[in-house]
Amino acid sequence: MKTSVKELLLESLKIEGETGNEKGISDFYADQCRQLGLDVFQDDNNNVIAVLDSSQGKIINFNGHMDTKPVDNIKPRIEDSLVYGRGACDMRGGIASMLDSAEALVKNKQMKGKVVYTFVVCEESGSREIRQRGTPSVIEYLQKNGLTPDAVIIGESSQTNYSKTEIGYTLCDGERGRYTIDITIVGEAAHGAWGSELGINAHALAGKIVHELCCLERNGKIDKESNLHAKFGIIEEGTHNLVPDTCPIQIDIRYSSNIALKGIMKDVLESVKNNLNYGEKKGEYSFKGTPIGNPCTNIENIFIEKLLCAYRTATGKEPNKTKSKFGTDGRLIRELLGKNIPIYIAGPGYQYIAHTKNENVPIQHLKDYSRIYTETVLSYLSR
Ligand SMILES: [Zn+2]
Repeated sequence: MKTSVKELLLESLKIEGETGNEKGISDFYADQCRQLGLDVFQDDNNNVIAVLDSSQGKIINFNGHMDTKPVDNIKPRIEDSLVYGRGACDMRGGIASMLDSAEALVKNKQMKGKVVYTFVVCEESGSREIRQRGTPSVIEYLQKNGLTPDAVIIGESSQTNYSKTEIGYTLCDGERGRYTIDITIVGEAAHGAWGSELGINAHALAGKIVHELCCLERNGKIDKESNLHAKFGIIEEGTHNLVPDTCPIQIDIRYSSNIALKGIMKDVLESVKNNLNYGEKKGEYSFKGTPIGNPCTNIENIFIEKLLCAYRTATGKEPNKTKSKFGTDGRLIRELLGKNIPIYIAGPGYQYIAHTKNENVPIQHLKDYSRIYTETVLSYLSR
């Protein structure tokens, strides 16, 4: 690899690779790793596992997903100190920083241990079953081959702030908790010819409720670190002559703490109950909540000290510490390796740019994260 980190990223962005179509990008990364002299293995799902082996010692795993959301006309380019393209920040930028750091580590003789780079498929899939082909199958491979990690860095964008003027980088010790709710509003069917006189139109009630739920955040009812998103679920097509008697609502809650979740649940149920009146009549509702958990590293561990120190050394600034706004494969790794393995999200770019038409990553972030990765490895795997 004789190219700079920004050029490496730009090259990778020219290769399409939405979920399920990762062969090309997988070959590209495997080739880069071979050029660096790493031991490379590509599995049947197109995951890349590349090992930098410097004798016995601890094992750090850098995890990055290769797949992107659909390409959407973002021309890969470098402009105003930013690299643009689908996947720039989510998350080929992180992989570019990892490879850049690997190049520095290969030359270093001070290391004692192993660095395992895993570039995976299918992270962007909404299906749990499809996601199995990526990180979970790679972790199983590592376990079977004596490469179970002692610490994991996920290189997803970890800057959770909106404002680019804000100084300092951000390290995420996990993700916010997630809780989804399915509510069915139940009205009363009637012949459509009677307008709104007869029956209870469940869609009309649900419309009011969705609107009110979406205003909770703007009205300051939800703490700044949490979010709530409400929408209609899949509406079955009814007969056209009918006042609809059911309407599904889906609510996606990301919460900062269990106390925050309690407050949000109370507000949600109040909104639903307060909006069921329909003239003289009243609709009903059914409720199903699904906790998806609150995955974060809250154990004492030496790795976090090394990581924080690497941020300070590489950037001269104290990093902010928070929870990732979006979900990552960290959740799946934690399920397989248990809670005592430190797993952190640390990578270039701003989370709010991910999946947008303007996806980009600052070149400075790419360089700084490459250094943060190198410093972390050197101090964690020091002789
Ligand atoms: Zn991602």
